[in-house]
Amino acid sequence: MGERHGLQRTDNWLGEQWSVRHISGAAAVKHYRCPGCDQEIPPGVPHVVAWPEYGDGDDRRHWHKACWNARDRRAARIQRSRQAPRY
Ligand SMILES: [Zn+2]
Repeated sequence: MGERHGLQRTDNWLGEQWSVRHISGAAAVKHYRCPGCDQEIPPGVPHVVAWPEYGDGDDRRHWHKACWNARDRRAARIQRSRQAPRY
């Protein structure tokens, strides 16, 4: 109730501006791997997509909402997995 879809906002992280878009459960049709916890986000689960605003769009990552909100505590893991395959 009251949830808006397609909403996009900008968050600050690692000294960059990140575009953050909410993905509704209905729009989540693939498996993604969340870089925050290294767990899968199965289809049907609402989550967020985030990417650096000044990037080329190839850096989009799908995150659990909770992991994105806790991204500052996850940063070490993300640095370590930077070379991992992208989804
Ligand atoms: Zn996660």
